Amino acid sequence: MMETTPGNEIPQNSTTTNALSPWLGLQLQKIIDGIYKKYRDIDDGAVATYIPELGKANPKDFGICLATVEGQVYTAGDWDKEFTIQSMCKPFAFQLALEQHGTEKTLKHVGVEPSGEAFNSIELDPKSGRPFNPMVNAGAIAVASLIKQSPVEAGVDAFVETMGKAAGRKLRIDQSVFASETATGHRNRAIAYLLLNAGIIDEEVPQSLHQYFAQCSMLVNCKDLAMMAATLGNIGNHPVTNERVFDFQLIKHVMAVMFSCGLYDYAGNWAFEVGLPAKSGVSGGIFGVVNRQLGISVYSPKLDAQGNSVRGILACRELASHFGLHAFDFSNVGSSFMQWLL
Ligand code: GLN
Repeated sequence: MMETTPGNEIPQNSTTTNALSPWLGLQLQKIIDGIYKKYRDIDDGAVATYIPELGKANPKDFGICLATVEGQVYTAGDWDKEFTIQSMCKPFAFQLALEQHGTEKTLKHVGVEPSGEAFNSIELDPKSGRPFNPMVNAGAIAVASLIKQSPVEAGVDAFVETMGKAAGRKLRIDQSVFASETATGHRNRAIAYLLLNAGIIDEEVPQSLHQYFAQCSMLVNCKDLAMMAATLGNIGNHPVTNERVFDFQLIKHVMAVMFSCGLYDYAGNWAFEVGLPAKSGVSGGIFGVVNRQLGISVYSPKLDAQGNSVRGILACRELASHFGLHAFDFSNVGSSFMQWLL
């Protein structure tokens, strides 16, 4: 399905000039439809059940979305199906911590080194005493502690409101998933108390966990995620509303950490094969950013052993190779490769 901004207009301070022609849009749509058909019958992996509410996901769901920084949107499959953002909230929360507290203070609470460990590993970097990075749970809980507010609902509301601006529509928390995570998230509680013991977070541990669990329980669909990614890629401005959502000077830090740590202990393979700053979540979503050009997202709830969506990885790999998205591709042209078709 293809959508465009009304009149196909480029927002006034858009940073790019290569709006796609309708013909090119159709070619792009064909490629996305082809990727959807190629992988929709892949049935490997398993839906996450350690958060009981996530186990209710339909394993057949499979959606793809690509959003350009000019606001054009291309979709396939279950692109409008909602799911909780889970760990894909982490880069955005990190961005907000950097904006609210500055780089120096934020980095006192969380590092930027890949951990090579699972997302829920209960450990700190032995060299620095901090969580390895903001993309694993320990780092994300440290970040949640920095951006929480008093009362705690205010911090959650502020997060959801900003994410809504990045998505271009009002977003909300899935209260059942939030309750499910709160009831069963003992491992995250263990991580949070480890952080308290190490002096990384303050005594308001339940509040930090509330912020973290609520962020993870925010509902999005593929289009929201692709738009949020395109907002990062569009120097922090939403591609359609043109609202300034994020401080563009800090986005490079967030993208760098996504690139090196966004897929946990698969991050190295991801950088090798797909080559995009990206983030996955246990609900089965993955999003990636092609700087100054595109946001891409895939949703499919069956996960591999690292907790990444099986069909998500396959589809992103193919999108990247079809469109030349890899940051270090020989031509490094990203979506402007499509201009060659003209
Ligand atoms: N809320 C999940 C957790 O803390 C997020 C994990 C993920 O998406 N990888 O376990």
